[in-house]
Amino acid sequence: MIVRVLGSAAGGGFPQLNCACAMCRLARSGAPGVVPRTQTSLAVSADGVRWAILNASPDLRQQVTQTPALHPVPSASVRNSPIGAVVLTNGDVDAIAGLLSLREGFVFDLYAAEPVLEALAENSIFKVLNPDVVTRRALVPGRPIRVLDDLIIEAFVVPGKTALYKETSAPDFGTRPGDTIGLEITQPTKGRRVFFIPSCARVDDALRTRLEGADVLLFDGTLYRDDEMIAQGLSQKTGARMGHIAMSGESGAIAALASTRVARRVFIHINNSNPVLDPASPERRAVEAAGWAIATDGMELRL
Ligand SMILES: [Zn+2]
Repeated sequence: MIVRVLGSAAGGGFPQLNCACAMCRLARSGAPGVVPRTQTSLAVSADGVRWAILNASPDLRQQVTQTPALHPVPSASVRNSPIGAVVLTNGDVDAIAGLLSLREGFVFDLYAAEPVLEALAENSIFKVLNPDVVTRRALVPGRPIRVLDDLIIEAFVVPGKTALYKETSAPDFGTRPGDTIGLEITQPTKGRRVFFIPSCARVDDALRTRLEGADVLLFDGTLYRDDEMIAQGLSQKTGARMGHIAMSGESGAIAALASTRVARRVFIHINNSNPVLDPASPERRAVEAAGWAIATDGMELRL
């Protein structure tokens, strides 16, 4: 299996177009190792020929352009694409807006949990995905599906919240089971297990049990500190309010997963406020000392 990180930043990308925070300024200044990142999306393939896209980021067109494996091949019909499936983990803008760049009439299956399929159905702009060529399929948590013949993908519900544009005044913002899912990706004949969980509000026992023995975990790395957006004057929201567990702290992801056996752990969906984006920062050293890597665009994992 090949897992390619097409984009590794949270919503807004890095640097974010309207942001002059410390990290965004570092990125614009070309500081060593502080590399720009597009918004989070993965490409996964069993054979390197046909690919599934996990989350369609607003930067998807640029990401495909930068990834030769995703280019159309000259020998087939003039219009073609190696992308045969798109799988969504939530309905946030940074996970679905790239669907609008996939409207050019090529055939693919679109998988999402029921609340996200509903959000797409409610937003009439997504009718540009012609149902004659784009088949929408429900992803039912706990029920593995076979994608592109040789990948098995199982969705599972993780703690989270509904997309920002779907929030209501209810205490839980109108969140429903399936608003936020994680994905377990395997191949039928090989035992390797890859997890993609770009949004997760907290780590509970069910998640720890599921992740035990994983080969690769790509996990929500939005914020280093729960209050970092407030501390930097960027927002009034904590990570918890946004549905994202912090990396650090007693109940942060590093501590919560410290005793879970995972061969390779990688933070992805990194917000531009997160100091780990600077390789020279103490926060980056702390994360790496705890056994975590920070995803970059173009990172490739082969299993
Ligand atoms: Zn910024």
